[in-house]
Amino acid sequence: MAVSPEDFTRQTASQYTMSLVAHKQPRNIFMRIYKQLYSSFGPQYWWPGDSTEEIIIGAVLTQNTSWQNVVRAIDRLKRSNVVSLRKILAMSDNKLARLIRPAGYFRIKTKRLKSVADFWVQQWDTDWPRVRRASFARLRTQLLNVYGIGPETADSILLYAFNKPTFVVDAYTQRIGGRHGLFPPGARYADIQKNVESAIPRRPALYNEYHALLVRLGKEYCRARPRCLDCPLNHRIFFRKNQRPH
Ligand code: SF4
Repeated sequence: MAVSPEDFTRQTASQYTMSLVAHKQPRNIFMRIYKQLYSSFGPQYWWPGDSTEEIIIGAVLTQNTSWQNVVRAIDRLKRSNVVSLRKILAMSDNKLARLIRPAGYFRIKTKRLKSVADFWVQQWDTDWPRVRRASFARLRTQLLNVYGIGPETADSILLYAFNKPTFVVDAYTQRIGGRHGLFPPGARYADIQKNVESAIPRRPALYNEYHALLVRLGKEYCRARPRCLDCPLNHRIFFRKNQRPH
């Protein structure tokens, strides 16, 4: 299902996932978990952003901070009418730092936003249709060479801004997967991603919804101190063998 972020309406993810939910219990533990989370929480409507550029900016701002803080920073950028990579590039560092201050680490994030903006302007002329036609592997390699962009940010941009098939791994994924015995302790980003991607259909809409559902689960239940008693995954069928519900 090839759709641009602008076309990637809420219906796209939910139509696809509803068709999955309609099927019987999958044998694959990753799909079983997905189905349970989708049944419990419903569609999450990610990524919350009005444009490709807002998604890219949000993916940088959300590093090491809560989404609430990102929203405050993006609101300030919107009020100044600068949710634009070209405008960010043209702006002074001090002004940008002041605007994004609510997102924390604002000096570092100023440098990172500038380098990301420079990449998209210099390498791609912010030609989003051309970017969407480009190969996933090429884009990911390029993004990982941009200052301040690690795998999680690169994959967030590729999946949520450009609808490329890449599963985003974050701290919640690592924690939940670790507690359920899905990944070995200390598993690396690339191994976790490979593990999940090899177990579920290679669909951006599915990757989109799955990551959003795991974030919801991590925020509400699988916290540092887990709330297993009330959690929708508190059943042995959602744990790998030899792992027990808490
Ligand atoms: S059952 Fe417990 S360990 Fe599993 S996801 Fe829920 S809170 Fe986390």
